[in-house]
Amino acid sequence: MTQKDLLAIADEFGSPVYVYDAEKIISQYKRLTSAFKVNELRIHYAVKALSNISILKLLNSLGCGLDTVSVQEVRLGLEAGVDPSKIIYTPNGVSLEEIEEVVKLGAQINIDNLSILEQFGSRHPEIPVCIRINPHVMAGGNSKISVGHIDSKFGISIHQMPHLLRIVENTGMHINGIHMHTGSDILDIGVFLYASEILFEAAKNFKELEFIDFGSGFKVPYREGDIETDIEDLGAQLTKKFDKFCKEYGRELALAFEPGKYLVSEAGKFLAKVNVIKQTTSTVFAGVDTGFNHLIRPMFYGSHHHIENISNPDAKKRFYSVVGYICETDTFGSNRQIAEIREGDILSFSNAGAYSFSMASNFNSRYRPPEVLWYKGKAHLIRERETFEDLTRHQVVMDFEDSGKLVEKN
Ligand SMILES: *Cc1c(COP(=O)(O)O)cnc(C)c1O
Repeated sequence: MTQKDLLAIADEFGSPVYVYDAEKIISQYKRLTSAFKVNELRIHYAVKALSNISILKLLNSLGCGLDTVSVQEVRLGLEAGVDPSKIIYTPNGVSLEEIEEVVKLGAQINIDNLSILEQFGSRHPEIPVCIRINPHVMAGGNSKISVGHIDSKFGISIHQMPHLLRIVENTGMHINGIHMHTGSDILDIGVFLYASEILFEAAKNFKELEFIDFGSGFKVPYREGDIETDIEDLGAQLTKKFDKFCKEYGRELALAFEPGKYLVSEAGKFLAKVNVIKQTTSTVFAGVDTGFNHLIRPMFYGSHHHIENISNPDAKKRFYSVVGYICETDTFGSNRQIAEIREGDILSFSNAGAYSFSMASNFNSRYRPPEVLWYKGKAHLIRERETFEDLTRHQVVMDFEDSGKLVEKN
């Protein structure tokens, strides 16, 4: 996907627009599956990162399963033709009713608290469930995206193992999987392996396991020279530990992961047009035709998205703050060196595959952008730009007259 291709896409589909490179998604999947040489590897793509049905179909065709956090995501997976046995449902804080709905759809249930575990086990002891354990390990430095530590709302604390085992025994339920998802960024493989040891120890308590699921947290690069998770190194080391565990356990289990970002982040570019260049005494602002309604990660998590001017790539670089059109502070990047920007130029934001469109909203009553899949040198529209009807569709309109008097309808 060259800058020229991207420009042609902005030209054809308008701006702003999301573009995903199918080839990059495929190569990330292959890199991940080659890194873990185990008897059975299950990759469940985390649907919440990017939930377009065409993307789910692409991943399904590679043999990838799905990780879902809502009944709606399970239904999207089924809509994409994914076999329910390849869908794992890993919610947090949802109702027993929703879990029961997902059971009916046939997905693998993963439970992350003792209260629901006990209720579920009492009502459906015959349905095997996976349990989400919190090993209390801080993986990654940003507390906003680490979920394994002591104050986290995620998972059943490893210290509650005795209570957990009592529930399993009393209800007669079957535990077929054990799971952890420590946080979003594995930078230190040692920390991850340490957490894996805790999970292996916990796993020995359950005799009917089919799989061990290590969640995700694979870090992808955002800036040039950024460190990323060394997937090959992690693969080699974890595979060794996993083999050793399976020998002790007495049976070959499946090794599972749930990557979101790793599979789709780098595949995505977000293209926006520069509406205005505004020079203040201290800064040159480039105002684009989008805002945190379409790409909230920089403002929400402080995430870095590399920005390039694809309309004028060879020009001299200057410093800019790239800001949105929302009536709030929405800065995509401050003090960025970018090839000279002119009004009307198209800027490309990198790492826009994961948590970008899927976190978009209609704030300021703007339309959500279209999505395009770049496949073998050709652009395919996989979601249309919204229209005014999308903004009004679900509104039930009341009428008023004479300073606030309701007009009764019959
Ligand atoms: C969000 C999530 C993932 C995916 O995380 P990434 O950082 O995108 O790879 C995996 N598992 C669970 C349970 C999640 O909530």
